Amino acid sequence: MTGGDPDSGARGPWWRAPLTRLAQWREHRALARRAIPEDLWQLTLSRLPFLARLDEADRAELRRLCSLFLDRTEFHGTDGVDISDDIALAVAAQACLPVLRLGLHYYERLYGIVMRRDEVVAQRSVMDEDGIVHEYEEPIVGELGEGGLMMLNWHDVSTAAEGAEWAFNVVIHEFAHVIDAATGDIDGVPPLPDREARERWIEVLDTAYEQFCELVDDGVDTVVDPYGAEGPDEFFAVAVEAFFVAAVPFKRESPEMYAMLAGYFRQDPAAG
Ligand SMILES: [Zn+2]
Repeated sequence: MTGGDPDSGARGPWWRAPLTRLAQWREHRALARRAIPEDLWQLTLSRLPFLARLDEADRAELRRLCSLFLDRTEFHGTDGVDISDDIALAVAAQACLPVLRLGLHYYERLYGIVMRRDEVVAQRSVMDEDGIVHEYEEPIVGELGEGGLMMLNWHDVSTAAEGAEWAFNVVIHEFAHVIDAATGDIDGVPPLPDREARERWIEVLDTAYEQFCELVDDGVDTVVDPYGAEGPDEFFAVAVEAFFVAAVPFKRESPEMYAMLAGYFRQDPAAG
């Protein structure tokens, strides 16, 4: 998608003009096709308390992005989940929050969303240093598969308000992975303008990640989900969750990471 690129302010060559007009026309059609009824929009906002900080202009932009998101995203329900407008909009509103100022082109690699009723338990095994294989069960609340197919579960999506109290948000977590994956690698480093910005990002991320792992090892009750200690890619995803749904305590716990994410997403959720 080219229409929503915030950096495309400068006029391109003359032959881009018809494409731009075509993109605008397509966007206009999509917005008309996917207009969100006022009562459903208000209901969705009331269920997601972390959206309350958005001013009127931001809410209007979020609603516009939700329409475009719904127009281009395939949803499939499984385990008896029927994808209603309610369910689709609950996902869209949370998914579009991180890219409110960046645009939906960050989600171009998303292939579709499968919604389960509840989390699933995966059987995992890991080999220790002595070559002994340990079997364990891991609950999976969401997953971004190869090829861009995302799995979510309705139980956790629909209880996002309660989850926010402990910095948990499955939709924002999985979409943080989509943003990260937009570079081609899932490594905690999202698309950045140049090498210098990348190096700076890696420096801040690695330092914050090391500090976080020490806290987790010491048994400290962190704001950021201890699952983030799995690796820098997961740390990035849980930090993005905390940034958007528990901004004030997250900023206190990890000020450098907060500042970096605020600059990246061009949002300052801890400011109110
Ligand atoms: Zn993850």
